Amino acid sequence: MTTFADLGLSQKVLSAVADAGYSIPTPIQSGAIPPALQRRDICGIAQTGTGKTASFVLPMLTLLENGRARARMPRTLILEPTRELAAQVAENFEKYGKNHKLNVALLIGGVSFEDQNRKLERGADVLICTPGRLLDHCERGKLLMTGVEILVIDEADRMLDMGFIPDIERIAKMIPFTRQTLFFSATMPPEIQKLADRFLQNPERIEVAKPSSTATTVTQRLVASHNKDYEKRSTLRELIKAQDDLKNAIIFCNRKKDVADLFRSLERHGFSVGALHGDMDQRSRTTMLQNFRDGNIQLLVASDVAARGLDLPDVGHVFNFDVPIHAEDYVHRIGRTGRAGRSGRAFTIVTKSDSKHLDAIEKLITQKIEWENGDLSNLPAPMESFESSKPRKGKDRDRDRDKGRSRRPSSGHKSDTQEWDNPVETQDVPVAVKADTLKTERKAAEKPQNSQRHQRPNPANDDLRDRRSRYNRDRDDGPTPVGFGDDIPAFMLIAANAKA
Ligand code: AMP
Repeated sequence: MTTFADLGLSQKVLSAVADAGYSIPTPIQSGAIPPALQRRDICGIAQTGTGKTASFVLPMLTLLENGRARARMPRTLILEPTRELAAQVAENFEKYGKNHKLNVALLIGGVSFEDQNRKLERGADVLICTPGRLLDHCERGKLLMTGVEILVIDEADRMLDMGFIPDIERIAKMIPFTRQTLFFSATMPPEIQKLADRFLQNPERIEVAKPSSTATTVTQRLVASHNKDYEKRSTLRELIKAQDDLKNAIIFCNRKKDVADLFRSLERHGFSVGALHGDMDQRSRTTMLQNFRDGNIQLLVASDVAARGLDLPDVGHVFNFDVPIHAEDYVHRIGRTGRAGRSGRAFTIVTKSDSKHLDAIEKLITQKIEWENGDLSNLPAPMESFESSKPRKGKDRDRDRDKGRSRRPSSGHKSDTQEWDNPVETQDVPVAVKADTLKTERKAAEKPQNSQRHQRPNPANDDLRDRRSRYNRDRDDGPTPVGFGDDIPAFMLIAANAKA
């Protein structure tokens, strides 16, 4: 069996690896480290969780032992698609480079240019960047790339998804042709292969796991749901509650906006939850991740940015709130659980409109995923909204259907429509008020509100109270309409058939 000592790494590196508790290299490490040490280009096809980071960090540390950095002229450059990944690589340099005195600079967005400049002035042995921030520094004339001996392009397929390829091409042109290039990708679609062909010279190709493979230790299940967001949230809550052994979980959404909405909803329902997506500033993201790692937060709602490369070794469950649009993302998402031989569970909420994407996933992973509690044909009736619980008159029903949109009231008055036009505010609230009743009801509702100070016993209030409590019980706690807080005005609780 190959050991780290067989790979040609320096004593300093071997000692740090031993201190980290690793004795046996992973397949990507034993495949990539020896040729990397011989200054060969590498094309590594490996998913996160395979020990990929150490497969380039360890040989880089060994090679960097000879020579020193000059001001503003980094010796090596690592490109990462996200800030989190860049920060994790920096942590790896700290861990494995503890016996070295190397200057590692992290250039990522959300951190001040000043601090980063100071590091660059001291001379960086290792520069770890997201492409945009690196180009910003170059444009400010603060960096000279002509001293770069090793270029690492990590997570190339993610770079492609995120539109970074033109940036990477610009960066690569600034670096001497004689450099060594280490290129890693979890998948190798044709566009990535073309890129690899352009950047690499006679590379050693190491493929450690089929990009489409999912760990056998992960139990995968599909869960049928109606497709309204509040229905999906209810399905998710039931699913979470049904797990006896839920230690922690990542919940993936396709869109950033849904991350925020779902996070708020789960929080309101009393779950221990945090959120992670690309729009958060660096400090909040780092704090959030640390809290999740430390077990202070049980559930982490995340977008796909968080799906790749994050070193969260002990995730028990993955919930896909949405079926991912790109089939490879499914593999990455569920790769967050079942790591290092542990068992994990991955649930995907599926609605009728997801069949195309689900088919693509099953094709990619070459297996059919089992349904947890019956497929879409066995779904119970949708959750009741106020309106759907009452028979609606033909004219109104037809008008809604023709408009093909949610049953929002329309009004010529700008401030009225503003409240309703914001999808964040309205999308989840299963309350329906007919357009033509709204104006009248609003006017009517203003009066009792104004005269509440002089409230007289009114039998209608009992009815209103009932409706309010029924509303509060029935609705999913999605975002509350702005301006109302939790105190929903009376007019919004008037049943749809008030005029009927
Ligand atoms: P990565 O694929 O780089 O994200 O690494 C995934 C996890 O594997 C990290 O927690 C590493 O610390 C860990 N790891 C890296 N190399 C080894 C190894 N040789 N043996 C066991 N674990 C490792």
